Amino acid sequence: MKYSIIGAGIGGLTTALVFEKAGIEYQVFEKIQSIATVGAGIWLAPNALQVLEHINVLDEIQQKGNSIDRITLGKADLSTISDNNQNTIKQMFGYSTIAIHRAELHSILYSKIPKEKIHLGKGFNHFEELSNGSIKIFFDDNSEYETDFLIGADGIHSKVRKQLFPESQTRYSGQTCWRGVANIKIDKEFQNRGVELWGNQIRFGLSRIAENKIYWFAVALDAPNQDDKVDLIQQKLFKMFSSFHPIVNKLILSTSPDTIIRNDIIDLEPLSKWYKNNICLIGDAAHGATPNLGQGGAQAIEDAYYLSEIIKRQPKENIFEIFQQKRIKKVNSIVKQSWITGKMAHWKYGRGIRNFILKQMPNKLLEKKMIELYKIEKVQ
Ligand SMILES: Cc1cc2nc3c(=O)[nH]c(=O)nc-3n(C[C@H](O)[C@H](O)[C@H](O)COP(=O)(O)OP(=O)(O)OC[C@H]3O[C@@H](n4cnc5c(N)ncnc54)[C@H](O)[C@@H]3O)c2cc1C
Repeated sequence: MKYSIIGAGIGGLTTALVFEKAGIEYQVFEKIQSIATVGAGIWLAPNALQVLEHINVLDEIQQKGNSIDRITLGKADLSTISDNNQNTIKQMFGYSTIAIHRAELHSILYSKIPKEKIHLGKGFNHFEELSNGSIKIFFDDNSEYETDFLIGADGIHSKVRKQLFPESQTRYSGQTCWRGVANIKIDKEFQNRGVELWGNQIRFGLSRIAENKIYWFAVALDAPNQDDKVDLIQQKLFKMFSSFHPIVNKLILSTSPDTIIRNDIIDLEPLSKWYKNNICLIGDAAHGATPNLGQGGAQAIEDAYYLSEIIKRQPKENIFEIFQQKRIKKVNSIVKQSWITGKMAHWKYGRGIRNFILKQMPNKLLEKKMIELYKIEKVQ
Protein backbone atom coordinates (compact mmCIF):
# COMPACT_ATOMS: atom_id res chain seq x y z
CA MET A 1 0.00 0.00 0.00
CA LYS A 2 1.38 3.36 -1.05
CA TYR A 3 1.02 6.51 1.08
CA SER A 4 1.56 10.00 -0.36
CA ILE A 5 2.34 12.79 2.07
CA ILE A 6 1.65 16.36 0.99
CA GLY A 7 3.95 18.83 2.79
CA ALA A 8 7.45 18.48 4.23
CA GLY A 9 6.96 20.55 7.36
CA ILE A 10 7.46 19.14 10.84
CA GLY A 11 4.52 16.74 10.47
CA GLY A 12 5.28 15.55 6.93
CA LEU A 13 9.00 15.00 7.56
CA THR A 14 8.34 13.12 10.80
CA THR A 15 5.68 11.00 9.11
CA ALA A 16 8.22 10.06 6.44
CA LEU A 17 10.71 8.97 9.10
CA VAL A 18 8.28 6.95 11.21
CA PHE A 19 7.02 5.27 8.02
CA GLU A 20 10.61 4.59 6.98
CA LYS A 21 11.23 2.92 10.34
CA ALA A 22 7.99 0.91 10.15
CA GLY A 23 8.63 -0.21 6.56
CA ILE A 24 5.53 1.58 5.21
CA GLU A 25 5.77 2.63 1.56
CA TYR A 26 5.58 6.41 1.09
CA GLN A 27 6.49 9.45 -1.02
CA VAL A 28 6.59 13.08 0.17
CA PHE A 29 5.64 16.06 -2.02
CA GLU A 30 6.60 19.59 -0.93
CA LYS A 31 5.76 22.78 -2.80
CA ILE A 32 8.89 24.77 -1.93
CA GLN A 33 12.11 24.18 -3.84
CA SER A 34 14.42 23.67 -0.88
CA ILE A 35 13.90 22.77 2.75
CA ALA A 36 13.59 25.99 4.77
CA THR A 37 16.78 27.66 5.93
CA VAL A 38 14.90 30.56 7.46
CA GLY A 39 12.55 30.79 10.44
CA ALA A 40 13.12 31.34 14.12
CA GLY A 41 13.13 28.95 17.06
CA ILE A 42 10.84 26.21 18.22
CA TRP A 43 10.38 24.45 21.54
CA LEU A 44 10.26 20.68 21.35
CA ALA A 45 8.48 19.35 24.41
CA PRO A 46 9.21 15.85 25.78
CA ASN A 47 6.23 14.32 23.93
CA ALA A 48 7.82 15.40 20.64
CA LEU A 49 11.26 14.30 21.85
CA GLN A 50 10.07 10.76 22.60
CA VAL A 51 9.02 10.38 18.96
CA LEU A 52 12.24 11.98 17.74
CA GLU A 53 14.13 9.50 19.92
CA HIS A 54 12.12 6.67 18.33
CA ILE A 55 13.37 7.76 14.87
CA ASN A 56 16.96 8.13 16.13
CA VAL A 57 17.40 11.88 15.70
CA LEU A 58 17.28 12.90 19.35
CA ASP A 59 21.07 13.03 19.89
CA GLU A 60 21.53 15.39 16.97
CA ILE A 61 18.67 17.58 18.14
CA GLN A 62 20.15 17.74 21.63
CA GLN A 63 23.54 18.70 20.18
CA LYS A 64 22.16 21.42 17.90
CA GLY A 65 19.57 22.77 20.36
CA ASN A 66 19.49 23.89 23.97
CA SER A 67 17.85 22.25 26.96
CA ILE A 68 15.24 24.35 28.79
CA ASP A 69 15.63 23.39 32.44
CA ARG A 70 13.53 26.16 33.92
CA ILE A 71 10.38 27.89 32.66
CA THR A 72 9.52 31.32 34.01
CA LEU A 73 6.36 33.31 33.52
CA GLY A 74 6.96 36.87 34.65
CA LYS A 75 5.68 40.41 34.55
CA ALA A 76 7.19 42.93 32.15
CA ASP A 77 10.03 43.70 34.57
CA LEU A 78 10.88 39.97 34.94
CA SER A 79 9.39 39.74 38.44
CA THR A 80 8.07 36.23 38.79
CA ILE A 81 4.49 35.08 38.28
CA SER A 82 5.46 31.42 38.18
CA ASP A 83 8.78 29.62 37.96
CA ASN A 84 9.17 25.90 37.33
CA ASN A 85 12.35 23.95 37.23
CA GLN A 86 12.02 20.93 35.00
CA ASN A 87 13.82 18.41 37.25
CA THR A 88 10.85 16.09 37.69
CA ILE A 89 10.13 16.17 33.95
CA LYS A 90 13.78 15.39 33.25
CA GLN A 91 13.79 12.50 35.70
CA MET A 92 10.60 11.09 34.28
CA PHE A 93 11.30 11.41 30.54
CA GLY A 94 15.10 11.66 30.44
CA TYR A 95 14.98 15.21 29.06
CA SER A 96 13.09 18.45 29.39
CA THR A 97 12.04 20.70 26.50
CA ILE A 98 14.67 21.49 23.85
CA ALA A 99 14.71 24.85 22.06
CA ILE A 100 16.22 24.71 18.58
CA HIS A 101 16.33 26.74 15.38
CA ARG A 102 13.55 25.55 13.06
CA ALA A 103 15.95 25.38 10.12
CA GLU A 104 18.16 22.98 12.13
CA LEU A 105 15.19 20.79 13.00
CA HIS A 106 13.99 20.65 9.39
CA SER A 107 17.44 19.95 8.05
CA ILE A 108 18.07 17.12 10.55
CA LEU A 109 14.76 15.45 9.64
CA TYR A 110 15.18 16.03 5.90
CA SER A 111 18.71 14.62 5.87
CA LYS A 112 17.45 11.22 7.10
CA ILE A 113 14.87 10.71 4.33
CA PRO A 114 16.05 8.76 1.26
CA LYS A 115 16.14 11.39 -1.51
CA GLU A 116 14.18 9.26 -3.97
CA LYS A 117 11.23 9.43 -1.56
CA ILE A 118 10.96 13.21 -1.23
CA HIS A 119 10.08 15.57 -4.08
CA LEU A 120 10.63 19.31 -3.69
CA GLY A 121 9.01 21.96 -5.88
CA LYS A 122 5.86 19.79 -6.14
CA GLY A 123 2.89 21.94 -5.16
CA PHE A 124 -0.26 19.89 -4.57
CA ASN A 125 -3.11 21.28 -6.65
CA HIS A 126 -6.05 18.91 -6.22
CA PHE A 127 -6.96 15.24 -6.00
CA GLU A 128 -9.45 12.96 -7.68
CA GLU A 129 -10.83 9.80 -6.06
CA LEU A 130 -10.90 6.95 -8.57
CA SER A 131 -13.55 4.24 -8.73
CA ASN A 132 -11.03 1.57 -7.64
CA GLY A 133 -10.46 3.45 -4.35
CA SER A 134 -7.09 4.89 -5.26
CA ILE A 135 -6.39 8.61 -5.57
CA LYS A 136 -4.90 10.65 -8.36
CA ILE A 137 -2.92 13.69 -7.22
CA PHE A 138 -2.52 16.66 -9.55
CA PHE A 139 0.40 19.05 -9.02
CA ASP A 140 0.86 22.69 -9.97
CA ASP A 141 3.43 21.69 -12.61
CA ASN A 142 0.69 19.63 -14.35
CA SER A 143 2.22 16.30 -13.33
CA GLU A 144 0.11 13.55 -11.73
CA TYR A 145 0.70 10.69 -9.30
CA GLU A 146 -1.51 7.76 -8.30
CA THR A 147 -1.56 6.59 -4.71
CA ASP A 148 -3.52 4.31 -2.35
CA PHE A 149 -3.67 6.80 0.54
CA LEU A 150 -3.23 10.55 0.71
CA ILE A 151 -2.02 12.37 3.83
CA GLY A 152 -2.48 16.13 3.97
CA ALA A 153 0.39 17.49 6.09
CA ASP A 154 0.31 20.83 4.30
CA GLY A 155 -0.17 23.14 7.25
CA ILE A 156 -2.89 25.39 8.58
CA HIS A 157 -3.83 26.73 5.13
CA SER A 158 -3.98 23.16 3.75
CA LYS A 159 -5.18 22.83 0.17
CA VAL A 160 -5.92 19.15 0.79
CA ARG A 161 -8.27 20.18 3.61
CA LYS A 162 -9.89 22.90 1.52
CA GLN A 163 -10.86 20.31 -1.09
CA LEU A 164 -11.85 17.68 1.50
CA PHE A 165 -13.75 19.98 3.85
CA PRO A 166 -14.44 23.26 2.01
CA GLU A 167 -16.44 24.57 4.97
CA SER A 168 -13.41 24.47 7.34
CA GLN A 169 -12.38 27.85 8.75
CA THR A 170 -9.35 29.38 10.42
CA ARG A 171 -9.91 31.85 13.30
CA TYR A 172 -7.87 34.98 13.93
CA SER A 173 -7.07 35.41 17.62
CA GLY A 174 -6.76 39.20 17.35
CA GLN A 175 -3.04 38.84 18.11
CA THR A 176 -0.03 39.11 15.90
CA CYS A 177 3.43 37.74 16.58
CA TRP A 178 6.95 38.81 15.61
CA ARG A 179 9.77 36.30 15.90
CA GLY A 180 13.50 36.66 15.60
CA VAL A 181 16.88 35.21 16.50
CA ALA A 182 19.34 37.59 18.16
CA ASN A 183 23.02 36.88 17.73
CA ILE A 184 24.33 37.71 21.18
CA LYS A 185 25.80 36.09 24.23
CA ILE A 186 23.23 35.98 26.97
CA ASP A 187 23.73 36.17 30.75
CA LYS A 188 24.14 32.85 32.52
CA GLU A 189 20.75 33.16 34.24
CA PHE A 190 19.02 32.90 30.83
CA GLN A 191 21.12 30.12 29.33
CA ASN A 192 18.84 27.16 30.01
CA ARG A 193 15.68 29.03 30.76
CA GLY A 194 12.51 29.71 28.82
CA VAL A 195 10.99 33.05 29.79
CA GLU A 196 7.67 34.66 28.92
CA LEU A 197 6.86 38.16 30.17
CA TRP A 198 3.29 39.45 30.27
CA GLY A 199 2.81 43.23 30.15
CA ASN A 200 -0.10 45.49 29.37
CA GLN A 201 -1.75 43.50 26.54
CA ILE A 202 1.63 42.68 25.04
CA ARG A 203 4.04 39.86 25.82
CA PHE A 204 7.55 38.76 25.04
CA GLY A 205 9.26 35.37 25.22
CA LEU A 206 12.86 34.27 24.92
CA SER A 207 15.07 31.21 25.05
CA ARG A 208 18.60 30.36 23.98
CA ILE A 209 18.59 27.94 21.03
CA ALA A 210 22.35 27.58 20.46
CA GLU A 211 25.67 29.24 21.31
CA ASN A 212 25.09 33.01 21.02
CA LYS A 213 21.68 32.54 19.41
CA ILE A 214 18.60 33.67 21.30
CA TYR A 215 15.13 33.02 19.92
CA TRP A 216 12.51 35.57 20.90
CA PHE A 217 8.88 36.29 20.15
CA ALA A 218 6.75 39.37 20.74
CA VAL A 219 2.95 39.37 20.69
CA ALA A 220 0.51 42.29 20.49
CA LEU A 221 -3.11 42.94 19.55
CA ASP A 222 -3.55 44.17 15.99
CA ALA A 223 -5.77 43.97 12.92
CA PRO A 224 -5.01 40.94 10.70
CA ASN A 225 -2.91 40.99 7.52
CA GLN A 226 -0.73 43.98 8.42
CA ASP A 227 2.84 44.46 7.21
CA ASP A 228 5.89 46.21 8.64
CA LYS A 229 8.55 48.16 6.81
CA VAL A 230 11.87 46.40 7.37
CA ASP A 231 13.70 49.62 8.23
CA LEU A 232 11.10 50.56 10.87
CA ILE A 233 10.42 47.25 12.57
CA GLN A 234 13.13 47.43 15.26
CA GLN A 235 12.09 50.96 16.21
CA LYS A 236 8.44 49.93 16.40
CA LEU A 237 9.13 46.93 18.66
CA PHE A 238 11.66 48.90 20.71
CA LYS A 239 8.99 51.49 21.47
CA MET A 240 6.33 48.88 22.14
CA PHE A 241 8.51 47.08 24.71
CA SER A 242 10.27 50.08 26.25
CA SER A 243 8.69 49.41 29.67
CA PHE A 244 9.95 45.79 29.69
CA HIS A 245 13.13 44.42 31.30
CA PRO A 246 16.21 45.70 29.36
CA ILE A 247 16.97 42.20 28.00
CA VAL A 248 13.95 42.58 25.70
CA ASN A 249 15.15 45.58 23.77
CA LYS A 250 18.70 44.24 23.78
CA LEU A 251 17.42 41.20 21.90
CA ILE A 252 15.32 43.25 19.48
CA LEU A 253 18.28 45.48 18.64
CA SER A 254 20.61 42.49 18.20
CA THR A 255 18.42 40.94 15.52
CA SER A 256 18.88 41.62 11.86
CA PRO A 257 15.61 43.43 10.91
CA ASP A 258 15.22 41.57 7.62
CA THR A 259 15.06 38.25 9.52
CA ILE A 260 12.19 39.29 11.80
CA ILE A 261 9.10 37.28 10.87
CA ARG A 262 5.55 38.48 11.42
CA ASN A 263 2.56 36.10 11.62
CA ASP A 264 -1.02 36.61 12.67
CA ILE A 265 -1.90 34.11 15.37
CA ILE A 266 -4.65 31.86 14.06
CA ASP A 267 -6.01 28.42 14.70
CA LEU A 268 -8.40 26.07 12.97
CA GLU A 269 -12.00 25.80 14.07
CA PRO A 270 -12.09 22.18 15.30
CA LEU A 271 -13.15 19.74 12.58
CA SER A 272 -15.47 16.86 13.47
CA LYS A 273 -13.62 14.64 10.99
CA TRP A 274 -10.03 14.69 9.76
CA TYR A 275 -10.47 12.03 7.08
CA LYS A 276 -12.72 10.90 4.25
CA ASN A 277 -12.27 7.51 2.57
CA ASN A 278 -8.53 7.10 1.91
CA ILE A 279 -7.54 10.69 2.61
CA CYS A 280 -6.53 12.02 6.01
CA LEU A 281 -5.20 15.27 7.46
CA ILE A 282 -2.52 15.51 10.14
CA GLY A 283 -0.75 18.30 12.04
CA ASP A 284 -1.88 21.89 11.52
CA ALA A 285 -3.92 20.85 8.47
CA ALA A 286 -6.17 18.83 10.82
CA HIS A 287 -5.98 20.75 14.09
CA GLY A 288 -3.91 23.95 13.87
CA ALA A 289 -3.60 25.51 17.33
CA THR A 290 -2.47 28.93 18.50
CA PRO A 291 1.15 28.69 19.70
CA ASN A 292 0.50 29.63 23.33
CA LEU A 293 1.24 26.16 24.73
CA GLY A 294 4.14 25.51 22.33
CA GLN A 295 2.46 22.26 21.28
CA GLY A 296 1.43 22.59 17.60
CA GLY A 297 4.62 21.05 16.24
CA ALA A 298 4.67 18.44 19.00
CA GLN A 299 1.13 17.39 18.11
CA ALA A 300 2.06 17.07 14.42
CA ILE A 301 4.95 14.86 15.53
CA GLU A 302 2.65 12.79 17.77
CA ASP A 303 0.22 12.39 14.85
CA ALA A 304 3.01 10.95 12.72
CA TYR A 305 3.95 8.44 15.41
CA TYR A 306 0.42 7.21 16.17
CA LEU A 307 -0.48 6.97 12.50
CA SER A 308 2.51 4.75 11.75
CA GLU A 309 1.85 2.56 14.80
CA ILE A 310 -1.80 2.10 13.79
CA ILE A 311 -0.91 1.27 10.18
CA LYS A 312 1.66 -1.25 11.43
CA ARG A 313 -0.88 -3.04 13.62
CA GLN A 314 -4.21 -2.70 11.81
CA PRO A 315 -3.50 -2.54 8.09
CA LYS A 316 -6.95 -3.89 7.15
CA GLU A 317 -9.09 -1.78 9.50
CA ASN A 318 -10.27 1.76 8.95
CA ILE A 319 -6.89 3.21 9.84
CA PHE A 320 -7.83 6.88 9.68
CA GLU A 321 -10.91 6.43 11.85
CA ILE A 322 -8.84 4.65 14.51
CA PHE A 323 -6.17 7.32 14.20
CA GLN A 324 -8.63 10.15 14.76
CA GLN A 325 -10.25 8.36 17.71
CA LYS A 326 -6.84 7.98 19.30
CA ARG A 327 -5.85 11.62 18.85
CA ILE A 328 -8.85 13.93 18.82
CA LYS A 329 -9.50 14.31 22.55
CA LYS A 330 -5.97 15.39 23.43
CA VAL A 331 -5.60 17.59 20.39
CA ASN A 332 -8.93 19.40 20.82
CA SER A 333 -8.14 20.06 24.45
CA ILE A 334 -4.78 21.61 23.47
CA VAL A 335 -6.43 23.79 20.81
CA LYS A 336 -8.93 25.03 23.40
CA GLN A 337 -6.46 25.57 26.25
CA SER A 338 -4.05 27.32 23.94
CA TRP A 339 -6.76 29.70 22.73
CA ILE A 340 -7.83 30.50 26.32
CA THR A 341 -4.21 31.03 27.45
CA GLY A 342 -3.65 33.49 24.60
CA LYS A 343 -6.76 35.45 25.54
CA MET A 344 -5.78 35.52 29.23
CA ALA A 345 -2.30 36.77 28.41
CA HIS A 346 -3.78 39.88 26.79
CA TRP A 347 -6.51 40.74 29.29
CA LYS A 348 -7.14 44.44 29.51
CA TYR A 349 -8.66 44.27 32.99
CA GLY A 350 -8.07 41.95 35.93
CA ARG A 351 -4.38 41.37 35.27
CA GLY A 352 -3.53 41.68 38.98
CA ILE A 353 -6.04 38.98 39.94
CA ARG A 354 -4.92 36.79 37.05
CA ASN A 355 -1.27 37.05 38.09
CA PHE A 356 -2.17 36.43 41.72
CA ILE A 357 -4.08 33.25 40.86
CA LEU A 358 -1.29 32.00 38.60
CA LYS A 359 1.24 32.73 41.34
CA GLN A 360 -0.72 30.68 43.86
CA MET A 361 -0.95 27.66 41.58
CA PRO A 362 1.16 24.91 43.16
CA ASN A 363 4.14 23.81 41.07
CA LYS A 364 3.13 20.20 41.70
CA LEU A 365 -0.17 20.82 39.93
CA LEU A 366 1.55 22.40 36.92
CA GLU A 367 3.99 19.51 36.85
CA LYS A 368 1.13 17.02 36.88
CA LYS A 369 -0.47 18.78 33.90
CA MET A 370 2.83 18.78 32.02
CA ILE A 371 3.41 15.08 32.67
CA GLU A 372 -0.07 14.32 31.36
CA LEU A 373 0.59 16.39 28.24
CA TYR A 374 3.98 14.81 27.56
CA LYS A 375 2.91 11.17 27.87
CA ILE A 376 3.05 9.03 24.76
CA GLU A 377 0.93 5.89 24.96
CA LYS A 378 1.73 2.57 23.40
CA VAL A 379 -0.67 1.63 20.61
CA GLN A 380 -2.37 -1.72 21.37
C1 LIG B 1 4.61 31.98 16.30
C2 LIG B 1 4.56 30.49 16.39
C3 LIG B 1 5.33 29.83 17.33
C4 LIG B 1 5.25 28.44 17.46
N1 LIG B 1 6.01 27.81 18.40
C5 LIG B 1 5.91 26.47 18.55
C6 LIG B 1 6.70 25.78 19.52
O1 LIG B 1 7.53 26.39 20.22
N2 LIG B 1 6.55 24.44 19.65
C7 LIG B 1 5.67 23.72 18.88
O2 LIG B 1 5.58 22.49 19.04
N3 LIG B 1 4.92 24.35 17.94
C8 LIG B 1 5.02 25.69 17.75
N4 LIG B 1 4.29 26.32 16.79
C9 LIG B 1 3.37 25.53 15.96
C10 LIG B 1 4.11 24.81 14.85
O3 LIG B 1 4.90 25.70 14.10
C11 LIG B 1 3.12 24.12 13.92
O4 LIG B 1 2.15 23.46 14.68
C12 LIG B 1 3.84 23.11 13.04
O5 LIG B 1 4.72 23.78 12.17
C13 LIG B 1 2.84 22.28 12.25
O6 LIG B 1 3.52 21.40 11.43
P1 LIG B 1 2.86 20.89 10.08
O7 LIG B 1 3.86 19.99 9.47
O8 LIG B 1 1.49 20.40 10.34
O9 LIG B 1 2.68 22.20 9.19
P2 LIG B 1 3.79 23.17 8.62
O10 LIG B 1 4.98 23.20 9.50
O11 LIG B 1 3.09 24.44 8.31
O12 LIG B 1 4.26 22.49 7.26
C14 LIG B 1 3.43 22.42 6.13
C15 LIG B 1 4.30 22.14 4.92
O13 LIG B 1 3.45 21.92 3.79
C16 LIG B 1 3.95 22.63 2.68
N5 LIG B 1 2.83 22.91 1.78
C17 LIG B 1 1.85 23.81 1.95
N6 LIG B 1 1.01 23.78 0.90
C18 LIG B 1 1.47 22.83 0.06
C19 LIG B 1 1.03 22.34 -1.20
N7 LIG B 1 -0.06 22.84 -1.81
N8 LIG B 1 1.73 21.36 -1.80
C20 LIG B 1 2.84 20.83 -1.19
N9 LIG B 1 3.31 21.28 -0.01
C21 LIG B 1 2.63 22.26 0.62
C22 LIG B 1 4.57 23.88 3.30
O14 LIG B 1 5.50 24.49 2.42
C23 LIG B 1 5.22 23.30 4.55
O15 LIG B 1 6.51 22.82 4.30
C24 LIG B 1 4.37 27.70 16.62
C25 LIG B 1 3.62 28.37 15.65
C26 LIG B 1 3.71 29.75 15.53
C27 LIG B 1 2.88 30.44 14.48
